[in-house]
Amino acid sequence: MAGAETLYNIVRCADALCLEFDCSARSWVENFLGFTVEESRDICTSALPFHTKDDAIRYLVEKGVPEERIAVEGAPFKLSVERGGRPAIRVCPVCGSVRIVQIGVLGLTPPLYVCENCGYRGALVLEVVI
Ligand SMILES: [Zn+2]
Repeated sequence: MAGAETLYNIVRCADALCLEFDCSARSWVENFLGFTVEESRDICTSALPFHTKDDAIRYLVEKGVPEERIAVEGAPFKLSVERGGRPAIRVCPVCGSVRIVQIGVLGLTPPLYVCENCGYRGALVLEVVI
């Protein structure tokens, strides 16, 4: 199922919670998760009807999204890494490879990432603190 294979990033937006994901999963999110999707360049965003990140994570897991596909503020949920000031590495959200290359002209287009391992191409990557 395509929609379960992308990465879902739960972020705080305005005074609510939002879900960021690659737009390849857009119809899956609309039809299966039942969220309204807003598209902005390469990233799709949905406002979430939840008050806490735990509720959002629980809902996604109930809908069949694997925990390793869920991130909170860009950090993988399952690894529950601590962020802040420490060096982070970029990791492919599909296969976990660190062979991530950033493409696109800085300042002109939003960064786009390509995984040299599995061919993933998208605006979302995981950042893992090492
Ligand atoms: Zn990959």
